[in-house]
Amino acid sequence: AKAAGRNTYQMFTREMHTAARQRLAIENSLRSAVANDEFVLHYQPQVDPANGRLVGFEALVRWQNPENGLVFPDRFIPVAEETGLILEIGRQVFEKACRQAAAWREAGLPPVKIAVNLSARQLRQPDLPETLSAIMKSCGADPGMMELEMTESMTMERPVESIRILGAFKEMGIGLAIDDFGTGYSSLSYLKLFPVDKLKIDRSFVKDIEVDPDDAAIASATIAMAHTLGKKVVAEGVETQAQLEFLVRHGCDIIQGYLFSKPLSAEEAELYLSKRGEE
Ligand code: C2E
Ligand code: CA
Ligand code: CA
Ligand code: CA
Repeated sequence: AKAAGRNTYQMFTREMHTAARQRLAIENSLRSAVANDEFVLHYQPQVDPANGRLVGFEALVRWQNPENGLVFPDRFIPVAEETGLILEIGRQVFEKACRQAAAWREAGLPPVKIAVNLSARQLRQPDLPETLSAIMKSCGADPGMMELEMTESMTMERPVESIRILGAFKEMGIGLAIDDFGTGYSSLSYLKLFPVDKLKIDRSFVKDIEVDPDDAAIASATIAMAHTLGKKVVAEGVETQAQLEFLVRHGCDIIQGYLFSKPLSAEEAELYLSKRGEE
């Protein structure tokens, strides 16, 4: 019976789908990454197109792994989300962003907001506002320096609970942005109830904005609607001058994308802030 068991096991491993094996490997090394503090943040500038000034950074996590080098979030965030490891990773990311914001303020650099991405699982934690508030306090970061990004589909999963949590963040003075806007199914009536400051137009609409009439219509309608609701608009993934010109012509408030800058290391971001920050 023992031999048969071993045989079955060997067959299973041999036939196990490569993707599943890879996923298990990622999961195991993610666990040690969490324990060994292997996550680093890169910061992508968000620019006011009217004057070229830096208004914010989006913090983007990278996994600095001794064997695989710098691993991008698309490779590990989904696994982290499935296994629940995202809760600890998200906590570490927010703490690093808060420490950075406090350090730049202490160094006398121009004020800048740091936006941090939330995952669906984090948003499902009823005590998320208290958790993040405690982290800000321990790092000496002001809520006004921090912003949270969450996707449209995440908030629409449980709209009533999301409105409550977002309200708590709003009360604390943290900025809120809806990420990847236009890719989900948000109802306009709910959007009105979400106390968010910004909508981020998804890169998929920006890509062909000057050639695809549908994308152009979605982007310009999003900007007009956001302004009607008193919200600002960030365009993400802006790579060309033509995209920039279209967006500026339609009143887009903030631009993020390779045209201005790729995500920067903390040192590079500090240099960018000291040169292009607004007093
Ligand atoms: P996202 O929030 O939509 O972030 C924007 C992504 O677009 C980033 O990829 C950024 O590097 C990339 N990007 C920015 N400008 C351009 C551009 O002009 N052209 C192109 N082609 N790409 C551009 P990244 O850093 O690989 O992040 C991918 C996704 O991983 C993010 O998408 C976000 O959903 C997730 N993510 C990143 N950091 C975190 C985090 O700390 N927590 C959670 N939960 N998710 C994160
Ligand atoms: Ca984002
Ligand atoms: Ca986005
Ligand atoms: Ca996106």
